[in-house]
Amino acid sequence: MFQRDPCGLACVFIIYLCIGYADYVVTVWLVHPIFGQSFIGLTLIGAFNILILLTLTAHGRCMLTDPGVVPFSDPNQHRSHVNSSDDDDESASDGDAMMQRSRSGYAIGDNWTMCTRCKSFRPPRAHHCRVCKRCIRRMDHHCPWVNTCIGEFNQKYFLQFLFWVGMTSLFSMLIIGITWVYDDEHASTGINGKYGENAHHVKVLHSIFLAMEAALFGMFVLAVSCDQVSAIFSDETAVEAVQRRSRMDYRRSNVRRRSRMSLLKEVCGRGPIMLWFIPCTSHKTEKDIIASAKPRQTHFDV
Ligand SMILES: [Zn+2]
Ligand SMILES: [Zn+2]
Repeated sequence: MFQRDPCGLACVFIIYLCIGYADYVVTVWLVHPIFGQSFIGLTLIGAFNILILLTLTAHGRCMLTDPGVVPFSDPNQHRSHVNSSDDDDESASDGDAMMQRSRSGYAIGDNWTMCTRCKSFRPPRAHHCRVCKRCIRRMDHHCPWVNTCIGEFNQKYFLQFLFWVGMTSLFSMLIIGITWVYDDEHASTGINGKYGENAHHVKVLHSIFLAMEAALFGMFVLAVSCDQVSAIFSDETAVEAVQRRSRMDYRRSNVRRRSRMSLLKEVCGRGPIMLWFIPCTSHKTEKDIIASAKPRQTHFDV
């Protein structure tokens, strides 16, 4: 779901710029002048570019996958059955869950709400995003770095993006270390190389900028990854945690007693764990199947 949000577009441009700069420095200034087209040189450049490809693929899939946008619906159709919610409060009914099933088999209950902002008839745990101007299923947060919401259907790509950015940052640090240790003063960027001292100074400056970039991105994705994993394990999205705290409710009232593995599988898919890290896999989770299903009618059998 591509957004025309200037802030999001600027952030995506910055991401591409930083990745392009890292690739330029590693290839042109660090690895090639020292190792040339030797086995080590080609291996380092090849591995770095594979990491970048995985990062960009995960980023692209996260940015372009529907995060779980709730379709618009006719408010009059459901008025007598739903709670209106203006503050994104999940106003679940106190009574018995009056689950009803439509002709098409679409389960509808009292805890579905009507969003007063976008007029979507939305399931529990869906929240309205002010940037996307739509309700998103199990919305975690709106991320400008991928220019979309992180919701039920694209959270796994977001986790993959964080993972591969972390790996690329670590590998950048490793390459800076290797080229520092094996520095050749007679190489083209060496202090006694054919381009002289200036080229060497430029190489040192590029190394410092790349190290700063890798450290910054590395720490950022580490912090966000910790937040994401802790949110998955506690089965509570960032939006829900903020809402609970704003209600001055510091206890989890709806703690679901589920294993961490089953919570992880819900987000990352039920296939082999190795597939959780590969953004090009077409392995489907149950949620993907629901997402790809055609919009159904939501009439009641009453
Ligand atoms: Zn809404
Ligand atoms: Zn959003």
